[in-house]
Amino acid sequence: MIKRFTAAISVSKILRIFGHIKYPRKRHCIKCRYRRLSRLLDGRFLCLRCHYKFSILTNTYLQRSFLPVDSWYELLWWFSYGFTANKTSREVKLSQQRVHKCFTTIRAAIYDYEQFEMKEFFGEVEVDETYVGPRFKNRRKSNRDYYRRIKAVKRGRGAKTLLQPVFGLYQRDGRVYVEFIKDAEKKTLQDIIKGRIVLESKVYTDTWKSYKGLNKQGYDHQTVDHGKQEYVKEKKGKKIHINGIEGFWGYLKEHLLKHHGVSKDNLIYYVKEQEFRFNNRDLSTEEFILKLISVLLNFSPPKA
Ligand SMILES: [Zn+2]
Repeated sequence: MIKRFTAAISVSKILRIFGHIKYPRKRHCIKCRYRRLSRLLDGRFLCLRCHYKFSILTNTYLQRSFLPVDSWYELLWWFSYGFTANKTSREVKLSQQRVHKCFTTIRAAIYDYEQFEMKEFFGEVEVDETYVGPRFKNRRKSNRDYYRRIKAVKRGRGAKTLLQPVFGLYQRDGRVYVEFIKDAEKKTLQDIIKGRIVLESKVYTDTWKSYKGLNKQGYDHQTVDHGKQEYVKEKKGKKIHINGIEGFWGYLKEHLLKHHGVSKDNLIYYVKEQEFRFNNRDLSTEEFILKLISVLLNFSPPKA
């Protein structure tokens, strides 16, 4: 059973939670980091050195929102339960468009956080690529006819041609990072590997040709040959396989299914949302929400 939440929690309590997440230690000016602030009547802070006025929402993803914090807080619960915007709008007094806009904001902040946080992979890292997006045969008929007309697909094959190639890293302690790629060629894949995986790490892949030469790049590269029904092998006490990243692909695809009709431009945000959920899968719902609040309060949208 899903419990209702906001009735039991007041706006001032929510603001205290937000304030505590934003400033776990002492508050400081967000412009000059000076620690002596005074509190204005409207709840904002005034820096006693540079005289800058700001609130806990200034320069965050929540700043330009006209939604009160208690509505945000409730939406975060529905979001964390994995409800779609459509389903959530039936539970709260907001239109589907409004909820969708808020969920889009949450996903944008998550995207920034994941790009920033998942920079360095080391130790044993599994690497693989896959495709996401609606399969051609599952598309609407008008849509299929259009793609046939522009010859984007050939009859009988092309199941993959409309899908988005995705590249993924999985560190054996359970962290994952994914990125959309233009192709699965050697340069594309190895550039990402060099950018994200620390040299001398153990890198496990299948035998796809684009991974050849990683040993020369300074990695301890080992492969499993799925073509030869080889899925796990042992070498010097290390288990070589890519079951971790393949497990994530299954998780990702299953979770994307309920958001049918995501546009190609937005797809990356839904994918990064699943990366974030997977990376935080051990948190309780409440811990997950506190984490979301911290992501929303500590990253800023690009300046328009
Ligand atoms: Zn200041």
